[in-house]
Amino acid sequence: MMDYQLTVQSMLERAEKYFPKKMVVSRTLSNVERISYRQIAQRVRRLASVLEKLGVQAGDRVGTLAWNHHRHLEAYFAIPSMGAVLHTINIRLSAEHLIYIINHAEDRVLLIDEDLLPMIEKIHDQLPTVKAYIVMGDREEAPASVLSPLYSYEGLLKEGDPAYSFTQKLDEKDPAGLCYTSATTGKPKGVVYTHRSIFLHSMVLGLKDSMAISEEDTVMYVVPMFHVNAWGMPFASTWLGSSQVLPGPKFTPKILAELIQNEQVTITAGVPTIWLGLLQELEKESYDLSSLRSIVCGGSAAPPEMIRTFEQKYKVPFCHAYGMTETSPLVTISRLKSDQQNLSDEEKLAIRAKQGMVVPGLEIRVVGEKGDVKWDGQEMGELLVRGPWIADQYDRDERSKQSFKDGWLYTGDIVTIDQEGFIKIVDRTKDLIKSGGEWISSVDLENAFMAHPEVLEAAVVAVPHPKWQERPLAFVVSKKQTSDLKEELRRFISQQFPKWWIPDEIIFLKEIPKTSVGKFLKRALREKYSDYYGQAKGNRVDAS
Ligand code: ADP
Repeated sequence: MMDYQLTVQSMLERAEKYFPKKMVVSRTLSNVERISYRQIAQRVRRLASVLEKLGVQAGDRVGTLAWNHHRHLEAYFAIPSMGAVLHTINIRLSAEHLIYIINHAEDRVLLIDEDLLPMIEKIHDQLPTVKAYIVMGDREEAPASVLSPLYSYEGLLKEGDPAYSFTQKLDEKDPAGLCYTSATTGKPKGVVYTHRSIFLHSMVLGLKDSMAISEEDTVMYVVPMFHVNAWGMPFASTWLGSSQVLPGPKFTPKILAELIQNEQVTITAGVPTIWLGLLQELEKESYDLSSLRSIVCGGSAAPPEMIRTFEQKYKVPFCHAYGMTETSPLVTISRLKSDQQNLSDEEKLAIRAKQGMVVPGLEIRVVGEKGDVKWDGQEMGELLVRGPWIADQYDRDERSKQSFKDGWLYTGDIVTIDQEGFIKIVDRTKDLIKSGGEWISSVDLENAFMAHPEVLEAAVVAVPHPKWQERPLAFVVSKKQTSDLKEELRRFISQQFPKWWIPDEIIFLKEIPKTSVGKFLKRALREKYSDYYGQAKGNRVDAS
């Protein structure tokens, strides 16, 4: 067979050739723009040509700090297609982490949304590798700024070449993208994606048993384009010729509901917090969501009760998936096998709330202290993954040794695997609660709390305990706090778990702290309450 190179530029060229009239709807700071793939492809070529004029060469890293909009999508294709590396930077990182990753990546040019300029203005004197800044706004003039040289994206594009030819020298193993993990502990770690890994991962997003993205779809990825390439959906949707809806800066649940309704979105994707927010909006106002054929949810465990509400009350099919920055990200997806279709609704929900079965192309193992665990849905072990879109190291990072061993990625996720091969994440290694030598799953407890009608969000964390080593504490955000809710929740949870699993205390909060990508920041709670039992004797932390 031919030694054909699997490249990102060929994906854009397909959209340009076969779907020139299909549209991308893009919400920006001041507009909602509608722009065809023909226009997008021309603008991608213009952008690649001006980056080249600015001195960007093959292998150089070009950073983006941006929301989900058409300019960011153009950068997704222009940068890899000219042989450079698209480095999507998480806009919610601290200044310290921003400085670290921009310097570690050695970004040469930064493309920055206008409203995010202040983040870089504050630290620009500590970014020696950056030679030019480009502001991505709706205007052709660059705003006044300390950044220099600062160009406006639209101004530059006017001077670009719409017929620019992409480099023909690409090898499929060349780097195309770079994304840092969001650093729940320590400094962020960089993961480099290749043209080949993006190509193969995108292909799998199109499979019917996976996300089934197709030309018929209107795809709205809510997951940020700075978080694992928006789960690869910008690449796949463009390649497969789907229409796209990009929700832009500072969207709200209301904006999302309106976009789904007005643009007839068929598939959307994001972390559970987004969908919990949408559910609250749907309770306040009614929207027509009948165009939706799938909400893809991943990044942290989807509470079964949320899946039930979307499917039964709002008739929106829900799809639970699992992955991580190191895995491009798709590893597993939870879809029933045909012989599971005749199970009861409750049994089906229990299966679909799991993280699911590994997608074709990857291999997994679940390894406990005594080797591979039994496929019984009970025994717990760490999930290991390998395959063509799984990283084999972090970018120039000593910590690679801890996660990549014997050809496998050690995910740090503790899971069970059942007889059908469906995995269920019990916890991240660092979130597991070890009480009296036994493991308690914080995820199971959280899902149980979130199944109570008065509970909006719940996080359960381990705190050190003098006798039991660790004990669980629960943190709950309730819809309305009645005086007896704590007792009611304790009763509710006690019916479902052994006594020693029941959290010692239920603490009501206005909000659960979140990470930069909207997951529960359990580390913050663990740190704040780490002395809970230390003080227990005299001066217990106020739990109200
Ligand atoms: P970070 O490590 O900063 O959170 P990632 O986005 O790479 O950044 O997170 C990957 C992790 O998120 C996985 O290792 C896993 O712990 C968790 N995760 C992802 N999807 C799911 C899911 N569907 N259910 C439970 N946990 C998930």
